[in-house]
Amino acid sequence: MLDLNHPTPAPRVISGAKHDWELVIGLEVHAQVATRAKLFSGASTLFGAEPNSNVAFVDAGMPGMLPVINEACVAQAVRTGLGLKAAINLTSAFDRKNYFYPDLPQGYQISQLYHPIVGEGEVLVEFGDGTARTVRIERIHLEQDAGKSIHDMDPAMSFVDLNRTGVALMEIVSRPDIRGPEEAAAYVGKLRQIMRYLGTCDGNMQNGNLRADVNVSVCRPGDYERYQASQDFSHLGTRCEIKNMNSMRFIQMAIEVEARRQIAIIEDGGAVVQETRLYDPDKNETRSMRSKEEAHDYRYFPDPDLLPLVIEQTWVDDIAARLPELPDAKKARFIADFGLSDYDASVLTADVANAAYFEDVAKGGGDGKLAANWVINELFGRLKKDDKDIGDSPIPAARLAQIVALIKADTISGKIAKDVFDIAYTTGREPDEIVATDGLTQVTDTGAIAAAVDEIIAANPAQVEKARGNPKLAGWFVGQVMKATGGKAAPAAVNALVMEKLGL
Ligand code: ADP
Ligand code: MG
Repeated sequence: MLDLNHPTPAPRVISGAKHDWELVIGLEVHAQVATRAKLFSGASTLFGAEPNSNVAFVDAGMPGMLPVINEACVAQAVRTGLGLKAAINLTSAFDRKNYFYPDLPQGYQISQLYHPIVGEGEVLVEFGDGTARTVRIERIHLEQDAGKSIHDMDPAMSFVDLNRTGVALMEIVSRPDIRGPEEAAAYVGKLRQIMRYLGTCDGNMQNGNLRADVNVSVCRPGDYERYQASQDFSHLGTRCEIKNMNSMRFIQMAIEVEARRQIAIIEDGGAVVQETRLYDPDKNETRSMRSKEEAHDYRYFPDPDLLPLVIEQTWVDDIAARLPELPDAKKARFIADFGLSDYDASVLTADVANAAYFEDVAKGGGDGKLAANWVINELFGRLKKDDKDIGDSPIPAARLAQIVALIKADTISGKIAKDVFDIAYTTGREPDEIVATDGLTQVTDTGAIAAAVDEIIAANPAQVEKARGNPKLAGWFVGQVMKATGGKAAPAAVNALVMEKLGL
């Protein structure tokens, strides 16, 4: 369910020498399907294995070997499609995309050009300023990944590692609905988040299991609205495709520099040539890789080794029934159930493991807002400093929940809680036990606090005079009492007694 109350962000505008220009971007995201075996063979997909150790005969393109579809890969594509609110095509088919490359021993890639498994869907991309953009998904198809050529191991020879050959990829093609570099990165981030929730792609960009081809064009203000109204692409500029980007930062830099290149060409009276380009981060420029005219003729045709892929609606329904709660729904629920701010809910749902941890703390501790505060500010801060993930947090959710419960019950002050957190984090002790053993229980006994207040007032007559003239100075007394009680006095009680006894 998309939240239509979000205003749409303004497109990125670049001022050329003559005019203002707007950016139009469409992404083809290649997401490695999270499965143990490849798309058409039983070989392992494990990353980082010894080169050429995870290669079945069919992956190596041995003559006479036949591909056999891996049902788990199909299920993951369907799951991803459902997560992107997309149409699932009960009949799809595989095509051969023919080209020669040393890391593609078959001489063709098996892909789905004409009949993809997933049709149209949409993704809501939200931004920190409260705006959001709905990006339409055109299609998702399944295809094989290629292997890896290695050119830097030997001065005279190149090597090829076929471990990745035949691993299943989902190509997620967006409509040209993305309007700036930040939006493009946020869109990829949202896809990654959804797929991690679904468990369909690890989304690790460094390992190359999430990569994007970025299509960029520029147009004059108003043209995009004309395109939207008519879906007529002639209102848009000619696009260039920047291949194989695997860093959020480079995606943004490449879009910016490519848009500026196109603007300069057009304002100079030239025309942008539709072509494939590569981004060079060292020089921060894009370079032509091949133009459309010299583009390969892939001579796609239906793969005769594979039957059309026919799946049952009941099977799809079964997958749909077992989908996990997705980020948008979880975020809305956190706001509604725990009273979180939009921002805190976004932070906590960014990662599914973080969200589960928070929910345990909130439920166990009995206070959602307090739990959010402790998870975001104390725990995440500490984990980040120690370069740890939530999975290896030295303090499990149940223990942080104890701390939240202790604060909520006024057993310990927020200040003492930080000490308890630190002890629990570094020693693995139970917060309840720390508080009991170390005598950290908050003093709420007003008699004891009153005595401390009296003592401080008696010892500081000059300060008392000043505070009576300027009530803001009462804070000094509160601080002194807290110090005298080793931080264990309940701050609210101290505050009330100080004001009372100073006659303020
Ligand atoms: P191809 O098969 O040549 O790659 P597609 O029609 O599949 O072409 O489009 C590829 C991508 O290019 C899609 O993500 C689409 O949104 C995007 N795209 C199409 N036209 C434009 C344009 N004028 N500006 C930016 N992106 C575009
Ligand atoms: Mg393409």
